[in-house]
Amino acid sequence: MSRRRVLVLAGTSEATELAHRLDGVVEVTSSLAGVTTNPVERPGAIRRGGFGGIDGLTRYLADTSIDAIVDATHPFAAQMPFHAAAAARATGTPLCRLLRDPWRPADGDRWLEVADLPEAARTLVEMGAARVLLAVGRNSLEAFTRCVDHWFLVRSVEPPAVVLPHMEVLRSRGPFTVDAERELLAQHRIDAIVAKNGGGGATEAKLTAARELGLPVILVSRPPQPAGVTTVGTVDHAVAWVEQTLAEA
Ligand code: NAP
Repeated sequence: MSRRRVLVLAGTSEATELAHRLDGVVEVTSSLAGVTTNPVERPGAIRRGGFGGIDGLTRYLADTSIDAIVDATHPFAAQMPFHAAAAARATGTPLCRLLRDPWRPADGDRWLEVADLPEAARTLVEMGAARVLLAVGRNSLEAFTRCVDHWFLVRSVEPPAVVLPHMEVLRSRGPFTVDAERELLAQHRIDAIVAKNGGGGATEAKLTAARELGLPVILVSRPPQPAGVTTVGTVDHAVAWVEQTLAEA
């Protein structure tokens, strides 16, 4: 399989791990959206920035003779999975979606599951929490500009794209531990958390700490995924899919 080419659509820890696992087995190219200024290092070729929609990705796949694609973008990446599905179909390139399982509530959790960010903001206003850990990512803050009576601790890897009426910014990248999360919540007297149901271990500790402290969590559900795409939940299964797909090609 040494000359086969695999495109990994990146943006998650699984994408980084997959590049390590495929390195040396195939020619792997990781594609980054280019939104993070200091992305985690990984082996293989790297390209940065958008492809230019479905047409751009279709051209890229044809020009570079990609043999298989693993879409390992974030569960909340709303566009790229649809672009990948359409371009894969147009070029006949095998595609696999690597999508980790969502978090599921455990005993003691006080979750309010909402459909999207505007509903999260409305719920926050209704519940009357005053000091909120907002862990939804730098580009997902717009809906919270209406929350004028709330103080937000906004945690993000990059500087937030929007300024909220009352906010403090905490720039950090997971993984986070339960002890550190418990301390953060106590230190800032947080009385509610808003997060996306991203799943995975790196950012789960805030939910465990919230459960221990009895804090409510407003959890935004995932956007839809394209129909008819082979989907796996782990890097192991993605590696197995690549091996099997390239062996059959
Ligand atoms: P999106 O809505 O699915 O993508 C918007 C546009 O960004 C796409 O149409 C594409 O531009 C470009 N793009 C996205 N992922 C790309 C990739 N891996 N390689 C090249 N271009 C890519 O995604 P998003 O929510 O803006 O997220 C952008 C990146 O951040 C993704 O890679 C995602 O995995 C990561 N991320 C997102 C979240 C989140 O909460 N949304 C959280 C953590 C990480 P063109 O149409 O020009 O090709």
